[in-house]
Amino acid sequence: LGAFFALAPGVETSTASPAFVARNYGIRLFYSQAYPLLSCTPRCAMAIMVQGAALVGIDALPVGVEVDLLRRLPAVVIVGLPSAAVRESAERVRSAILASGFEFPRQRVLISLTPADLKKEGTGLDLPIALGILAAAGQLPLEAISGLLSFGELSLSGALRPVRGSIAAAGLAKSSGARGLLVPEGCEQEAALIPGLSVWAAADLRGVIGWLKGEAGLKATEREPTLSEPFQLDLKEVGGQLLARKALEVAAAGGHNLLMEGPPGCGKTMLASRLPGILPQMTEEEALDITRIHSCAGLHNPGLGLLGQRPFRAPHHSISLAGMIGGSGGRPGEITLAHNGVLFLDEFPEFPRHAREALRAPLEDRRVLVSRLDGQSWFPARFMLVAAANPCPCGFWGHLTQPCSCMPGTRQRYRERFSGPLLDRVDLRIELANPSTAEIVGGNGEPSAAVQERVSKARARQQARYGGAWSCNAEVPGELFLDASLSNSASLSLLQQEMDRRKWSARLARRLLKVARTLADLQENPVVETTHIEQAIQLRVALNEEALCQC
Ligand SMILES: [Zn+2]
Repeated sequence: LGAFFALAPGVETSTASPAFVARNYGIRLFYSQAYPLLSCTPRCAMAIMVQGAALVGIDALPVGVEVDLLRRLPAVVIVGLPSAAVRESAERVRSAILASGFEFPRQRVLISLTPADLKKEGTGLDLPIALGILAAAGQLPLEAISGLLSFGELSLSGALRPVRGSIAAAGLAKSSGARGLLVPEGCEQEAALIPGLSVWAAADLRGVIGWLKGEAGLKATEREPTLSEPFQLDLKEVGGQLLARKALEVAAAGGHNLLMEGPPGCGKTMLASRLPGILPQMTEEEALDITRIHSCAGLHNPGLGLLGQRPFRAPHHSISLAGMIGGSGGRPGEITLAHNGVLFLDEFPEFPRHAREALRAPLEDRRVLVSRLDGQSWFPARFMLVAAANPCPCGFWGHLTQPCSCMPGTRQRYRERFSGPLLDRVDLRIELANPSTAEIVGGNGEPSAAVQERVSKARARQQARYGGAWSCNAEVPGELFLDASLSNSASLSLLQQEMDRRKWSARLARRLLKVARTLADLQENPVVETTHIEQAIQLRVALNEEALCQC
């Protein structure tokens, strides 16, 4: 090689291939077979840039995919903090390009992902990397890919596979002013949820290239109307349990958190799982939010489009802290997955202390700060908490026929977990008993649709009153209800009497007033009357501080 370059001093080697020089000078090039890169096409004048996206938590962030072909030993090098899945895409893309009938450049393919300091997760970068390589190798016109955001995973055969987070990528394409989004077939309905964005879907890489070259067409996706299905679990299936049904309705109407205590099998899970069905219909914005969260977490079938029902999350008590609040790999936790819906914690005292305490801040702030390896993100967490507990570890404390087999100390420690700062944020506490056979057999209760109508009206009254500052009574500072226009003097003096008699804190009294306000809203009453205060006490007093077991 040294001899070769010495013999050809006047030739610009970066623009003419050595094979060309050798031919002109009559030199036999021995190494051209051993080093095929020596005889390949000239190096591109500049690197190719393709727009892609990487998922970070529940957001898609813009990622520029720069591809450069260098005259060195053939290899694919990816720089710019790729995760393991992105690093492996080099092998997937090579096979996909070859299987689709295109040529993979026999040069050093350098792929740089920008911004370089952002950790790139997910497999959605396969497609922009493949397009960048083909454009750099001259097999795809550059102008075809300009302004287009592509997001998809490639299989070895060249087929495009659906990826999580298409709706987040579509939101990014819209906000960044891209001329459109290219996604794998199956993801187009989810991506088309973002209005005003052109979405194209392809089944494989060959289809994408054919479309970009203008040889074949891809149909732009139209958004299909979402069919709103009624919630499957209906309250009419619950026999008896009048107090619990009332508590559920009040919780839904005012956005209050609820604690239910009762023996095993009394219907706590049955009641809680019907709560999403009586909450008001979601707005388009709320539905888009939960669709994005569930899609980025990989829990949503992208072919279904918009999620039409409020989430109901019921994690097991062995859940880790990261599973509860989010953070493992930047994924959302249960409290974010329950956003705009219900988080049900059955056997609440069995949850580890740190998981219980971690709920305190999100319950106040309605969002949670999650730490990742390379930074922090705020995740939304506007959920309703429904906690359920047995009266003691064995579940038979206070039972009429079954004796409790717990040691007194065990029972006390168990019941201590009901109290504490977290449960100060729970407005409604009720005690359930096993329903009688007559109640179970005796007939159906009111259906969910009727309850939902009252709840929706009560929520509408609250939203009209607060003018967008708060969405429901539970979010409003309790002091506001001390105002004479919202509560009459008789009800306030009754509350004062009860506070003095039961030695309640001011915070507890404010919470009672919020519940009373919701009861008044359900009856379309502009002021809180004494009956509302009495009912609010009934919905709270079952587990009040003095009733705690002191054995
Ligand atoms: Zn017991």
